[in-house]
Amino acid sequence: MTTATAPKSLKPTFPSAGKRIFNFSAGPAILPEEVLHQCQQDIWNIAGSGIGIMEHSHRGPVFDKVIDEAVADCRKIANISDDYEILFLQGGATTQFAMIPMNFLSPETSADYIDTGVWANKAMKEAKLFGKVNCAFDGSKDNYAHIPAANEITLKPEAAYTHYCSNNTIYGTEFTSAPKTSTPLLCDASSDIFSRPIDINKHAMIYAGAQKNLGPSGVVLIIIRKDFMAKGKQGLPTMFSYANHAKEGSRLNTPAAFGIYVMGQVFKWILSNGGLEGMFKKNIEKAKFIYDAIDNSGGFYKPHARNDSRSLMNITFRMASEDLDKKFLKEAQALEMDGLKGHRNTGGVRASVYNAFPAAGCKALAEFMNDFAKRNG
Ligand code: PMP
Repeated sequence: MTTATAPKSLKPTFPSAGKRIFNFSAGPAILPEEVLHQCQQDIWNIAGSGIGIMEHSHRGPVFDKVIDEAVADCRKIANISDDYEILFLQGGATTQFAMIPMNFLSPETSADYIDTGVWANKAMKEAKLFGKVNCAFDGSKDNYAHIPAANEITLKPEAAYTHYCSNNTIYGTEFTSAPKTSTPLLCDASSDIFSRPIDINKHAMIYAGAQKNLGPSGVVLIIIRKDFMAKGKQGLPTMFSYANHAKEGSRLNTPAAFGIYVMGQVFKWILSNGGLEGMFKKNIEKAKFIYDAIDNSGGFYKPHARNDSRSLMNITFRMASEDLDKKFLKEAQALEMDGLKGHRNTGGVRASVYNAFPAAGCKALAEFMNDFAKRNG
């Protein structure tokens, strides 16, 4: 007769804790250490169930609790009322570029797009597949170096909605407040979600791919006002209707269960670290180390973003030549600072310092920058 106890090989065997280095990657990006430790445990056995989080049914009580808590904590973080639905979808932020116009735009209607960078531009291009588009601001003229003032944005009162991207990951520019519109405002907040206080009520919809400030890639957070969602087209393929996902509590099909779980853990981490005010305060202090190094370098470091448009999340700069940029990156790598290479559209250096990135890493980079400028200036 055999007994039903687990074989000895099912003992937890966590990898030995190797050292970690400063990860300045633009995304997928650094996650909070506390969250990673919790993941290690819960991948093995979550909530004493004897089953790991990736192995649980998405319709069982353990996952019910995970997703319910994630929704509740998300509401708490940004004070999101019941007027809004919170959804966890798949397909990355890029799928949202198409799903938004698929739901809310038609050949007879038009939408306003504020083009402040590659991602905003991609969103606008997708919309053109479904209806008319008014480019309300064209930032390409200065290679997306600034966030437009209100008088640079030309909105149409008849627009079905206005779309903007709150933080331009590639260029390092960021809106400090939502643009004013009379039409429903939609925001791609993939690279600065929950990094500062946000007025949800100004928006009809906010969406964010998880892999920068919220968790692993493969899950997208959607915060959508119910009355706006109700305007979505009927007769769409099942998976492309927000209303369908809402009806099924983000479980129309098998969701990105592990990603949702990690996002939930990150929400708890945000709440226990001062919430959005706490994140914002820390992010200002962190970014200041690096912007000070740029500003005090006597022109050695040339920032891409205009001063009034600087992002707290992605800090972009270059030096006098590509050779110097390369030398900088090589030396930084030797000092265990990874992921600093700028995007091909801007070149140079990009330091991505999302919520989970430690102040010590910003300080270390600033010290290296000062030293490098002295030696090479
Ligand atoms: N929007 C922004 C602002 C981004 O930074 C990115 C990815 N870097 C995307 C959208 C696209 O996200 P995904 O790869 O999840 O489709």
